Amino acid sequence: MDKRTAPRGTFDILPTDSNRWLALERAVDELCARFGYGEIRTPIFESTDVFVRTIGEGTDIVDKEMYTFTDRGGRSMTLRPEFTAPTARAALEHNLLQNLPLKVYYRGPIFRYERPQKGRYRQSHQWGAECFGVAGPQADAEIIALGMELIRRETLADVELGINSMGCDVCRPAYREAVVAHLKDNATTLSENSRERLSRNPLRVLDSKDPSDRAVIATAPRVDSYLCDACREHFTAVRALLASMGITPTVDPKIVRGLDYYTRTVFEMSAGGLGTQNALCGGGRYDGLIAAMGGPATPAVGLAMGMERLLMAAGPRRAESLNGRPRTEVAFVALDEPSARSLVPILHAFRRAGISADMDYTLRKVDKQIRAAGQQGARVAVILGNDELARGEATVQDLTTRERQRVKLIELEHDVKERLAR
Ligand code: AMP
Repeated sequence: MDKRTAPRGTFDILPTDSNRWLALERAVDELCARFGYGEIRTPIFESTDVFVRTIGEGTDIVDKEMYTFTDRGGRSMTLRPEFTAPTARAALEHNLLQNLPLKVYYRGPIFRYERPQKGRYRQSHQWGAECFGVAGPQADAEIIALGMELIRRETLADVELGINSMGCDVCRPAYREAVVAHLKDNATTLSENSRERLSRNPLRVLDSKDPSDRAVIATAPRVDSYLCDACREHFTAVRALLASMGITPTVDPKIVRGLDYYTRTVFEMSAGGLGTQNALCGGGRYDGLIAAMGGPATPAVGLAMGMERLLMAAGPRRAESLNGRPRTEVAFVALDEPSARSLVPILHAFRRAGISADMDYTLRKVDKQIRAAGQQGARVAVILGNDELARGEATVQDLTTRERQRVKLIELEHDVKERLAR
């Protein structure tokens, strides 16, 4: 292995790009707060059980993609491949479900051992939100509206919202049986992967992108003809609420979230122009999860959105970095070592006073320092050499007009603040 590269499927976020990330993270924080969701932060790794028992065997994540390791105490740990299970674990552990509804959001890295390609990584980043304790369709509609609103604000992409209902404990078993019968009848034409899934997680076959599965999937029974009255009503209400907010989803019976815990509403948001990895967001209702984890029966609905893909869809709209450096308003320029030392406390005082200021400690040529400062967006340069130092003054240069003026050191902060305010 070449030690000088990041691990396959991971990437560094460099100063040239981190401004876009920061801006996106702030937008997530701001919007989630506006929708009434509070941030939750869980550890990056959990007991492997947390994921195996919730996501379920027979899913790609659990079977093939988890970064699982044994720690030095002999416990099996897994780097989180998603946030819903850790969030539910934390909500149970801290008795947060005793005071419902509970609305939380999160953001951070997830880890999946996938085949890397553009838009698909082994360490990627998600943000998402979960609403616990509301069985009614308002919660589904709110979660979807939150996701759509973030995409609308952050990208110019054309977004497709696909929505489906997976039914519930009452109506899903009959549907599942019908799907299994159909898949079994056509088993010989299915891909190897799907044949294997047929016995473990048959509904997931409907989600397969393998071309050899396409024909079988196209003729599979559709869930809508199996929904019970309560599920049908819920689904209609979700769509009506979305329509009342100006959001028009496309009903897509092919959307089947692979995880066992989904019930009723499932949805996906995808963007044009992203190629094969065009899924931006996925989510749905998972009324069975908390009980499956040993907690009280608690309805819940949530979403998770990929932040890399969001930034890809955003394109240059978010490219507001200045050569990757933070914007410096005031550049301190020292002509020699004693002046540089004298500038240190003054620079510190400026920063304390809320001015973004910096000094080029290399003592390279003055005009080079000033040119670099201008490129970084500085508006004022404060120049100090032994001549100024002896008089207790500094030269202040306006980098827009190029005009220079001597200013007493004790008046420096006031003078520069006035110039910045102009
Ligand atoms: P999921 O939890 O699989 O529904 O994923 C939700 C969203 O996270 C997807 O729609 C993607 O935008 C993003 N995502 C999931 N896995 C990856 C990955 N390996 N690399 C980049 N983005 C991902």
